Amino acid sequence: MNQLEVCEIFYSLQGESSYMGMPCVFIRLSGCNLRCSWCDTQYSYAKGESCALESIIEQVEQYPCKLVELTGGEPLWQDHSIPLMDMLLERGFTVLLETNGSLYLEAVPKAVVKIVDVKCPGSGVSDSFMLVE
Ligand code: SF4
Repeated sequence: MNQLEVCEIFYSLQGESSYMGMPCVFIRLSGCNLRCSWCDTQYSYAKGESCALESIIEQVEQYPCKLVELTGGEPLWQDHSIPLMDMLLERGFTVLLETNGSLYLEAVPKAVVKIVDVKCPGSGVSDSFMLVE
């Protein structure tokens, strides 16, 4: 069964990007391949709750909102984040992906809005940025 390790799913206002201020459902996936010096989500490093993709969709659909963001941790660190994005798009969601810039984006559906971090020298991981998709 296709599953993802989920840290938390919650409903809030989007605080970043051109979607700032809009209601949004956040899917925070567990695990990250980096360890930024300023990381404010270290609790996402640990193994999360294993959830089937359909179960994640059901949780997201409980909220009155068609905007959803995959975040982490690093959401692309788990392979099944790609099929989850496809499923959300098929159901009419606008899908945002916040990613740390260190992983290839070629498998991410074109319709997904990519929010790509660039790690500054103070992060301690500035050499992690993937310059070529
Ligand atoms: S990429 Fe994000 S989650 Fe991962 S260590 Fe850096 S700030 Fe934390």
